[in-house]
Amino acid sequence: MSVRTRDRACPQRTCVGCRQRTDKRSLLRVVVNGGSLIPDLRGRLPGRGAYVHPVPACLEQAARRRAFNRAFRGPGPYDLAALREHVERIAQTAP
Ligand SMILES: [Zn+2]
Repeated sequence: MSVRTRDRACPQRTCVGCRQRTDKRSLLRVVVNGGSLIPDLRGRLPGRGAYVHPVPACLEQAARRRAFNRAFRGPGPYDLAALREHVERIAQTAP
């Protein structure tokens, strides 16, 4: 139980894909808009959010395990098109 000793300036979140707990800033916040999942690029959209690594592998893993349904407490399925597009664009521009 040494969580309290960690730097409080770096909140930790769990990726809904690989379930790894990591610095919030290295994860992408996702929110529901209608029946679609959209990337919350500024971290400011209202409502419940889920966090995922902005990589296709984690996104697909989350989709396969219906992690988003759990995270948003909805029946789903959610439309992942916008999210996939965003993540793929990041993957292509990454060094
Ligand atoms: Zn992940």
